[in-house]
Amino acid sequence: MKIFKKILLFSIVLYSGTVSANPYIKATKAINLADIKKIIIDLSADKYQGRLAGSESSKKAAQYLDSLLIQSGYAPVRDNFFCPELGRNLSNITVQLKGKDTNSFVVIGAHYDGLGVKKGEIYHGADDNMSGVAAVMTIAKMYKRCGKKPEKTIIFAFWDGEEEDFLGSIHYMSNFYKPERVALYMNFDMVGRANNGDIFPEVSYAWNNNFPYLKTLCSESLNKALPDKNRSLDITYEMRWGDGKGGSDYVAFSKYNIPYIAWMEVEMHPDYHKPTDTSDKISWVKLERVINFSFYITALMSGIII
Ligand SMILES: [Zn+2]
Repeated sequence: MKIFKKILLFSIVLYSGTVSANPYIKATKAINLADIKKIIIDLSADKYQGRLAGSESSKKAAQYLDSLLIQSGYAPVRDNFFCPELGRNLSNITVQLKGKDTNSFVVIGAHYDGLGVKKGEIYHGADDNMSGVAAVMTIAKMYKRCGKKPEKTIIFAFWDGEEEDFLGSIHYMSNFYKPERVALYMNFDMVGRANNGDIFPEVSYAWNNNFPYLKTLCSESLNKALPDKNRSLDITYEMRWGDGKGGSDYVAFSKYNIPYIAWMEVEMHPDYHKPTDTSDKISWVKLERVINFSFYITALMSGIII
């Protein structure tokens, strides 16, 4: 009997040790819905005036993001540049999490600029794109929490000037010392609305057609990352040509034929690029699931999950 108890105890310790050592399980503990909501509600509020690229309110939004990154243990770096077309200074924000290999990269990004104020109306841009910003910020926290150093170096990026033809991400990549060393770019632009409701929220997954394994990566990982079928995502696959064209910051990566995955809306909601894109319409259920799954995919690509 004593031996049985000892074996039982040992098994429980071993089991719980295995669970707690699982970097994905550990990472998911960093997801705090209250924090996610606060980012989106705060940055899409009137105070930030729709964050037009290079505006004073955009600079305040960038400072807000800096402070969140510092709280999460990162050292934000600003990629500032003058944009002659706009006559204003733009500023990308990036942080790095060094991997064992500091010469190969996974980049995870979302734009934080918006449309600003037009005819006295604030374009809040809660879904476009504070949803993406909150996703990248949360995934950055998950990497800190997962307890494992990635093989590749991760760059988390908050782009400026996306609404001005992707000026920020294009500027960053045109100065990136070796684009061919980027193994994956994951883009978040409008991931907060579930047009078909919260039960089985839809999301579009687009990938560079030159890298068919990116689709397999998604289809084979979904059930592992979100094993409960009642808490999953309704994914629409959209193959995109890797020809440097498209509608968001993945274009800056596609130009260099970098493998990319872009999350986006299946169909544009009626509040797209309207003042009515507000935080009360965000599907927190969908956003949380997209964040979970995205961490899982990038963790496979960066060598956290083997
Ligand atoms: Zn956008």
